Amino acid sequence: MKINSPLEVYQYLPQTNCQECGELTCMAFASHLIDRSIKLEDCKPILEDAYKEKYQDLSELMAPEIAEVIIGVGEHAVTVGGDDVLYRHQLTFFNPPAFAVDVWDTMSQSDLIERVTFIKDYKKFYVGRFLTLDMIAIRSVSGDPDTFKHAVTLVMEHTELPLVLCSLDPAVLQAGLEVAAEKKPLLYAATKDNWQDVYDLVVEYNVPVVLFAPDELDTLKSLAITFIENGCKDLILDPGTNPQGRNLRESFENFIMIRRAGIKEGQKEIAFPLMAVPMTAYMTNDDPVSASYWETVLCGVFTVRYGDIMILHSIEPYALLPEMHIKDTVYTDPRTPVKVDSRVYKVGSPDKDSPVFVTTNFALTFYTVESDLASNEINCHLLAVDTDGLGVEAAVAGGQLTGKNIADDFKKSNFDFSDKTSHNIVIIPGLAARLQGDLEDTSGLNVMVGPPDSGRIPGWMEKNWDGK
Ligand code: SF4
Repeated sequence: MKINSPLEVYQYLPQTNCQECGELTCMAFASHLIDRSIKLEDCKPILEDAYKEKYQDLSELMAPEIAEVIIGVGEHAVTVGGDDVLYRHQLTFFNPPAFAVDVWDTMSQSDLIERVTFIKDYKKFYVGRFLTLDMIAIRSVSGDPDTFKHAVTLVMEHTELPLVLCSLDPAVLQAGLEVAAEKKPLLYAATKDNWQDVYDLVVEYNVPVVLFAPDELDTLKSLAITFIENGCKDLILDPGTNPQGRNLRESFENFIMIRRAGIKEGQKEIAFPLMAVPMTAYMTNDDPVSASYWETVLCGVFTVRYGDIMILHSIEPYALLPEMHIKDTVYTDPRTPVKVDSRVYKVGSPDKDSPVFVTTNFALTFYTVESDLASNEINCHLLAVDTDGLGVEAAVAGGQLTGKNIADDFKKSNFDFSDKTSHNIVIIPGLAARLQGDLEDTSGLNVMVGPPDSGRIPGWMEKNWDGK
């Protein structure tokens, strides 16, 4: 049984409305637990002895269908899995896939440090935040435990990112664990041939592990059952990532079958996060550029269908950017529009003669407009009107963007035109042209209608803006 309504959750809470969790009532807390915007542990009273049983029961009843596995420690720890649905529109997807980029133990010291530093520092600004890489996968190419241990040590000296220790040789994995166990790395991998030795390592060092059985779902399931029965629950399943043709189709179908069995059929023994390895693209492609391109395709395929953690090789921008963008898009919560605070922003260094633009607080719209203005060195003020995260056209049609709303949001931002400008002019988006009269009547401002696309603002400025 799984709990799905706030009323059901409420039965297990202390029901004192003490507000220690920051919510006004236990029922409000219950609602947020259901949408997973807070954690059960945020209710401190339920952690007391008096509620011990209810806490345990509720934890189990609210556990996601797919287990969550934490890799790493501290602020960089990565949580994978945790989904409840097969399709995002049914709720949302939680915990975006973790991207682990590989290094290998036969790299020269300087190359290794350079690559680790690149992975650690890589970030791209997108819709108000930075997209980054999540983990480093250290592959044993030498097959030598000491060489591997040295590489792991070197990587740890240069990054706090969580690690995946990659070898099928338990002696090599052990060498890595001897220096990295405290960082709770992920072991890759236990197979039908080495599972007993890897199991011993998992127990001794208390770390998560990938179970790997390419194209053998029965073997994978049997491995999972063996580990579960022996008390290991931090499992990730790798059913194999075939890079090409019919075999790729089989891999894709395996991912879907396993996830469907975990969520729809309640097969708890395989309800674990899934590992995809898009870098298998390099196995069938000698040309590194083509392989990188195909790796990106595979990464996209398995981001869309249930890859919870991936090992990647290419660090070319043309590979990383699309990979990170598709992840961000698929894992954006469809229930919550991505929006920015509604207020007047400064772009560049505006003075009293600078123009004043209006857009909406839908993050994608806002950052597009802001970026177009900034990259063209247009010093100005920019109001993000609170449209509840809708873009301009939809907000005008739906009544969230009106003359009154714009005037009100200038007031809420304490933006007084007679104080901040010498011109009393506001420029609204071309797609909101029909608000011109309404805004003039409501605000007393002179309203100009800008272009429908912020990319055309520089050309529009040349023709229409003379400073006042
Ligand atoms: S802290 Fe717990 S008991 Fe107090 S209001 Fe929140 S949910 Fe209710």
